[in-house]
Amino acid sequence: MTTKTYAVKGMHCASCAAIITKKLSKVEGIGKADVNLATEKAKLEFTGEAVTDEALNELLGKYGYGLVAEEPPPAAEAAAPAIDRKAAAEKARQEKEEELLAQKAKVEFALPIALMVFVLMMWDIAARSFSSVPNLPIPMELFNLISMALATWMVFRIGAPFLHGIVMFVRSGAASMDTLIGIGTLTAWLYSTIITLMPEVRALLRVPDYTYFDTTIVVIGFVLLGKYLEARSKMKTGEAIEKLIGLQAKSAIVRRGSMEIEVPLEQVRKGDLVVVRPGERIPVDGAIFEGNSSIDESMVTGEPVPVDKKSGDPVIGGTINRQGAFTFTASRVGEETVLARIIAMVEEAQGSKAPIQNIADRIAAIFVPAVLVLAALTFIVWLTVGAALMDFSTALSFGIMGMVGILVIACPCALGLATPTAIIVGIGKGAENGILIRNAQSLETLSTVDTVVFDKTGTITAGTPSLTDIAPLDNSTDDDTLLQLAASVESRSEHPLAQAIVAAAKAKKIDLLEVTGFEAKEGVGVQGAIEGKSIKVRKPGPEENSRTKIGELQQQGKTVVVLESEGAALGLIALSDTIKPEATDAVRSLHAKGVKVIMLTGDNRAAAAYMAKQAGIDEVIPEVMPQEKAARIKELQAQGRKVAMAGDGINDAPALALADVGIAMATGTDIAIESAGVTLLGGDIRKVAQSITLAKATMRVIRQNLFWAFIYNVIGIPLAAGALYPFFGIFLNPVFSGIAMASSSVSVVTNSLRLKTTRLGG
Ligand code: ADP
Ligand code: MG
Repeated sequence: MTTKTYAVKGMHCASCAAIITKKLSKVEGIGKADVNLATEKAKLEFTGEAVTDEALNELLGKYGYGLVAEEPPPAAEAAAPAIDRKAAAEKARQEKEEELLAQKAKVEFALPIALMVFVLMMWDIAARSFSSVPNLPIPMELFNLISMALATWMVFRIGAPFLHGIVMFVRSGAASMDTLIGIGTLTAWLYSTIITLMPEVRALLRVPDYTYFDTTIVVIGFVLLGKYLEARSKMKTGEAIEKLIGLQAKSAIVRRGSMEIEVPLEQVRKGDLVVVRPGERIPVDGAIFEGNSSIDESMVTGEPVPVDKKSGDPVIGGTINRQGAFTFTASRVGEETVLARIIAMVEEAQGSKAPIQNIADRIAAIFVPAVLVLAALTFIVWLTVGAALMDFSTALSFGIMGMVGILVIACPCALGLATPTAIIVGIGKGAENGILIRNAQSLETLSTVDTVVFDKTGTITAGTPSLTDIAPLDNSTDDDTLLQLAASVESRSEHPLAQAIVAAAKAKKIDLLEVTGFEAKEGVGVQGAIEGKSIKVRKPGPEENSRTKIGELQQQGKTVVVLESEGAALGLIALSDTIKPEATDAVRSLHAKGVKVIMLTGDNRAAAAYMAKQAGIDEVIPEVMPQEKAARIKELQAQGRKVAMAGDGINDAPALALADVGIAMATGTDIAIESAGVTLLGGDIRKVAQSITLAKATMRVIRQNLFWAFIYNVIGIPLAAGALYPFFGIFLNPVFSGIAMASSSVSVVTNSLRLKTTRLGG
């Protein structure tokens, strides 16, 4: 199975997306077609070999659409150069800008005419209704002739895409938004032209000489304006990703031999020694080789404070070197860099579909045909029922106005844009703040979370414990021997506790002994043999916890490990970690949202409770073996809770995967954490609450959008059909339908853009 992503050309509306999805899904060899209106991209899953681009374009060309395959990213293992995202993004933007300019030119031509006609129309209506308003100072015949000429130009030149919609409908039965506007305006134009040019037909029908040229002009003018404004706002929704792409450096200075040469970014290789001068952007990922500096990582991690880095520290491509010059060894280039992966992740997420969108998609798929049927029905009802109750000419005129009005006011666009535009802005906003959301589904679930479970070590605490106490249990061993034995075994372990013990031994300049048969037991401890004696460093058993010395240390929030030789406990080592400075704030903001906060740890109850209390966490689940963490999450879910699990993503992967939303804290440069729905960069746990705020805000905007788009159509269509007339004697002129339709999709996109200014809080 292969998947390919394409840019879609000629897609204007939700109904277009629905048509393209339908046509592509029917093609043999295509398993799934995902067409996204907001990103204007299509993702195809092929069951076997990919169908050729030509075949796809031949199929879609009939309906006026086209596909352009996006260059596939090079395979991860190949040291292939990055696809030039910057150039691609610039090209895409340029194309869109040109399209926008063409649209603008049309609007600038059509709108003044439409506005002028609109004013005259209103004047005419006022003159007919109020005797105090004088008649138009233009002879009716002349006005009609000018209107006819302008309307003809509008329908056939400016409104050509709408006519194209009719051609497509006739040829293939697929109707889009454009078809609706096309049929609406063409009907109004056709009727008016016949009335004007063929008085005998008019006499036959006994209708007045009232024409709808003005309506045609104004509707096309306003609909175009709406489309233009919508396209312009839609471009703004993608600004976050453009900003990220803009972070990439264009070139790098590498040291080759004794030379320093500037090479394009794509030519930087793994292992290259890269030179960075003050104020420059760091081109790729790596580790500092020589020198030190303060680096502004805010654009990538959302961390506002510059980070001091010295030799050996990792640097991230796309961040800015403040002072100090240094060289670093490139470790990741091209598509493997953190920034490239962030961009890929955000792009993917922005194009994904939220479950809430399903309903809108289903409506959009049947929307246009349903509106066509409704419009025809309206016309028929006015001509039959209406004509039986009033004179024929009025009924005919209402029938036409009603039909045109329905076709013009109905707007599947608003429905289609409601969800994806908010998703794009929401996910983009997250990325700018170091909150990477995997897909729209995760965002939707995140908004419903009522419980956050934090892993203790490295999430609530800094994860860098330090040794505080050494306590031999009898007189046969002294502190240093104890530490030497422990550190020797621990030197083979990666555990934070192990690192702390080794660091303490190093600080005391204690030599490490040779260890054989090393073994690490996750969540328990380590063991090995030194000089033929078995040594264990392990957590105290349940019966040992009550020993006064151990209990005493644990009460102080310290983690105690026991050193055992040949099965006999020789002594205790106590270590203490500190809670992250922002932990209390983070917990407080979650509580303020009504979210329950739980701390999960393998550590013993007393030590864990001490840490939890400092952070303001009210519930602790202690002494959980690593492999049990997922089961604990399941228990919480069984109580009906929506659980987010926040952990480091490596040790906690199973729990993260099982939780409704897994939140991985990426402290290093590992950001593509498989099991996580959300990855927080920079290790600041306040972002947990921020990400929930963002998710809730995004879902609120989506619901508002869907509500208004839906209500708009539900109310607008009957109004345009003339539902008010029998009760109030008011008939909505199709011109107002045009204005309403223009503002509906614009307001949806504008509402989504509002998310950009959401305050995520502390
Ligand atoms: P946490 O949930 O805090 O990350 P772990 O599950 O990693 O804790 O470990 C639980 C307990 O197991 C630790 O508190 C410690 O007592 C013991 N332990 C685990 N690994 C080691 C080790 N390498 N050395 C000593 N003790 C260890
Ligand atoms: Mg752990």
